[in-house]
Amino acid sequence: MKIAEIHIYQHDLPVKNGPYTMASGAVWSLDTTLVKLVADNGLVGWGETCPVGPTYAEAHAAGARAALSAMGPGLIGTACMPLTVHRRMDALLHGHTYAKAAIDIAVHDLLGKHLGISVADLLGGAVTDRVPSYYATGVGEPDAIAQLADDKRKEGYPRLQVKVGGRPVEIDIETIRKVWEKIGNSGMRLAVDGNRGWTTRDALRVSRECPDIPFIMEQPCNTLEDLQTIRSIVNHGIYMDENGTSLNTVVAAAGTGLVDGFGMKVTRIGGLQPMRVFRDICEARNLPHTCDDSWGGDIIAAACTHIGATVKPNLLEGVWLAAPYIEGNYDPENGVQIENGHIRLPEGPGLGITPDESLFGPPEASFQ
Ligand SMILES: [Mg+2]
Repeated sequence: MKIAEIHIYQHDLPVKNGPYTMASGAVWSLDTTLVKLVADNGLVGWGETCPVGPTYAEAHAAGARAALSAMGPGLIGTACMPLTVHRRMDALLHGHTYAKAAIDIAVHDLLGKHLGISVADLLGGAVTDRVPSYYATGVGEPDAIAQLADDKRKEGYPRLQVKVGGRPVEIDIETIRKVWEKIGNSGMRLAVDGNRGWTTRDALRVSRECPDIPFIMEQPCNTLEDLQTIRSIVNHGIYMDENGTSLNTVVAAAGTGLVDGFGMKVTRIGGLQPMRVFRDICEARNLPHTCDDSWGGDIIAAACTHIGATVKPNLLEGVWLAAPYIEGNYDPENGVQIENGHIRLPEGPGLGITPDESLFGPPEASFQ
């Protein structure tokens, strides 16, 4: 089975009750990119990549489409095997993992359909069909975030991530305290995500002023050097998110004990093929992690849920999806949704998602 056609689509995903606010900025609408691969046997596979605005990571929506168009002609005729396709993509373009991820996801969808198995089984085998999610608050006022935390606890989310940073650290500390008053005795786990927004001084102060609250700090500061600086002087576990840009960074961070776990994005690391390697590195070092994406619709959501379903349950910190912030689904019947803080693994071969193509309009670029 070889790649015969590649079609690239642009699609807007408005933020429901927007904006969504992080330390790096606020977003009202997201620009997503979909990829349709058609194989020489007529099977179709879908992929997607959607940077959460231009300032979250070294990725932007138009860049994804430019990179995909640059690789497109050179991918026609390539065997639909994930590792083969990655090596071919790397021979055509250096870097740009977030764009390559869309092709990678579509190849997994295609291969699963060809073999008649789900993407989760292709990735080693699902251990559950009910995958835990977690809820991420935006950066907000302490009382409002505490109320949201309580609502999400009641809804059944096993974990909460509170966004902080980009404002006086005293407000972050007040937010963490008020959230913990609501969820402290509930068993709900807590992550505090600075999205690179704290100085090392801020991280140290938060940790010293909240020694009684067992949260983990997710990507509190901007650089690997910042994480090294605070590693031995804070009381809280540290997870890497934005700095985890490659398997090389992950191996170094896991091997040197720089972090206690990871927030990981399927598209940032380049798709499901590198994500399964990441999963196995984490299992070898007993490091918990998430299986997320930064944003996107049903295709991304399904990809994250399939890999999440294969993670050793005690190491899975959850699968974050943008679904609660987006109106509607690409697949009107089997769209991915979060219910009671958990995601039902899509059924059927491949990703288990059949998007309504009419939503996307004509392709922006096609290669065959
Ligand atoms: Mg994060």
